[in-house]
Amino acid sequence: MKVTEKQLKARCTELNMGPLKDTAFGLKVERTGRGYSCSLIYRDSTPPEILIADASAAEADACICGVATTSTVFKAIQGTIKPEFVPQEVFVKQHGERCPRCGTRDINAGQVTTVKGALEQYCSCGRCGLTWHGLYRLGGYELPLIA
Ligand SMILES: [Zn+2]
Repeated sequence: MKVTEKQLKARCTELNMGPLKDTAFGLKVERTGRGYSCSLIYRDSTPPEILIADASAAEADACICGVATTSTVFKAIQGTIKPEFVPQEVFVKQHGERCPRCGTRDINAGQVTTVKGALEQYCSCGRCGLTWHGLYRLGGYELPLIA
């Protein structure tokens, strides 16, 4: 099934008015010279972050669906009264520097625990009080650089 630019934009609008309405960001899709790009647009002065660039319509659609599904699932579990959390992929795109609930950078990073090739860092939010573990995976090693 072929997805049109109009459909992609409509889906973004739907998300921005719906599941993403109470979050710190919105989703934007743009047609570029080499395809589509999807980015997160923040409601404060934070510069936009590109999720996917030079993508086909199908890839852009999958990206939008990923954000949609995750936030919808959270909404269903949490109920509509409780605040929702940002999707995992968005949290990663933000380099774990923002609270997964309220989006602030006012995070207190705590103790780091090693778990077989992964690290867990205890974090708490200075604004909304949420606590979570930031999860880090081992990516390899780097030899000493020769000057
Ligand atoms: Zn928070």
